[in-house]
Amino acid sequence: MTDIATTCVQGGYHPGNAEPRQIPIYQNTTWKYDTSEAMGKLFDLEESGYFYTRLANPTNDAVAAKIAELEGGTAAMLTSSGQAANFFAVFNICGAGDHVVSSASIYGGTYNLLAHTMGRMGIECTFVDPNCSDAELETAFRPNTKCVFGETIANPALTVLDIERFAAAAHAHGVPLIVDNTFPTPVLCRPIEWGADIVTHSTTKYMDGHGASVGGAIVDSGTFDWTAHGKRFPGLTQPDESYHGVVYTERFGLEDAFITKATAQLMRDLGSIQSPQNAFLINLGLESLHLRMKQHAENGLAVARHLAQHPKVAWVRYPGLEGDAEYERAQKYLPQGACGVVSFGVAGGRAAAEAFMAHLRLAQIATHVADARTCVLHPANATHRQMNDAELEAAGISPDLVRLSCGIEAAADIIADIDQALATV
Ligand SMILES: *Cc1c(COP(=O)(O)O)cnc(C)c1O
Repeated sequence: MTDIATTCVQGGYHPGNAEPRQIPIYQNTTWKYDTSEAMGKLFDLEESGYFYTRLANPTNDAVAAKIAELEGGTAAMLTSSGQAANFFAVFNICGAGDHVVSSASIYGGTYNLLAHTMGRMGIECTFVDPNCSDAELETAFRPNTKCVFGETIANPALTVLDIERFAAAAHAHGVPLIVDNTFPTPVLCRPIEWGADIVTHSTTKYMDGHGASVGGAIVDSGTFDWTAHGKRFPGLTQPDESYHGVVYTERFGLEDAFITKATAQLMRDLGSIQSPQNAFLINLGLESLHLRMKQHAENGLAVARHLAQHPKVAWVRYPGLEGDAEYERAQKYLPQGACGVVSFGVAGGRAAAEAFMAHLRLAQIATHVADARTCVLHPANATHRQMNDAELEAAGISPDLVRLSCGIEAAADIIADIDQALATV
């Protein structure tokens, strides 16, 4: 198998003779056909071809194919954001009256999506502690459960999902495991190899890596057998009346059924396509992803180790740090590093954290993570600003918590910046 570094650079796009060497940006909405009969076959999904960018665009397809290769999946699609990717991945197999089991340790936006917005659509979600016992996990399932959801490294809690355990529980109930692999990227962890069935991404983070474009992706492993649980997944195994009765698993096989349905139905009806311009930018990021992830992880570990012995630091959370509660699991799932995001508490609480933030120079304050430039966020003052100290503690976010996203600058410079800012506290 080709090394992942080579796939980062060359995957997904293979130009023929005298074709562009770099993925071209197809900045067009529409394609022209000679006869309306030829066009009709595309609409019936009888032939594959491009006709309207909301459904498919060659730039997006090349980048999606690269991401599928990187994750070891059989098919992938790009979406306009990570939020759209997670929504589509779940909604593709869930409808009103269905139920989802999710790790409670997930991105705030995804929590809102599952707990509130999808709740209004009649889809219920049970949240479980990712470290709960097998018995507790078992009790979360219901007869109408359609999938299990979790994040490889959770944003911002930095817990590491026991993918094998969650996959085994999902499969025992005949449902797939969907894993949001945004933080590790396939360079540091490939969830499909541990049993995940569907992988999602906010490509906005490390995949783009330069803070240039919001985007998302869904990858299908192609290994979940929808037909073995056909009654539970009628959308995939029974005729789709909106496409003249096509049965996705029959026509497209297990490799392509999930992504074809998500494109043909959800993208058609709900929109949320990635713009080809942004797909091009994501691909530029992917071409150096293997190099950047190595540096992010090295910097994250160096900074975490430095903070752990600093007298003005109350605590440090980094899954790759020796002694961290997530360390053992990180060694298993993330042996090459645990990305660049570190959280820690400044001794002295909220006021000390604020003073520290104000004196940083190289690390800049931004509502963002996972970018080439080191950035920092004080959730108590930003994303969780509406909560008082007691509410913050209850949400597992202490008022002193600083989330530092180590970029790919020299670790020594990031550490020097932290030290000069801590010296002022
Ligand atoms: C940022 C993020 C999202 C949401 O992605 P957007 O591209 O901002 O819509 C989803 N999951 C995780 C883990 C994230 O970090």
